[in-house]
Amino acid sequence: MHPPNRSCKIEPNNHTPHRCNHVPMRMCVICRQRFPKSEIIRYTCPQNDKQELCPDPTGKRSGRGFYVCTSSECMKKFKKFRGWQKKCRGEHYDN
Ligand SMILES: [Zn+2]
Repeated sequence: MHPPNRSCKIEPNNHTPHRCNHVPMRMCVICRQRFPKSEIIRYTCPQNDKQELCPDPTGKRSGRGFYVCTSSECMKKFKKFRGWQKKCRGEHYDN
């Protein structure tokens, strides 16, 4: 018998949003901590041939998003973060 009160199961590698959490949380790609969407900066894949992520202050741009928190440490490391390159391949590129 399992206890009936299974509340919020948080799985660190689960990218789907948790419905049970009323504040949308996003994970910083550097420190891997979760922050409310309003306190984290969203970047999207490069929209043109620029080899940099585009900041997305409105959070409304479609496509894959990368989030970095506002700690100076993470902002600094994010400049060297290249993990998006593989993930962005094939997105937003018109050949
Ligand atoms: Zn961070």
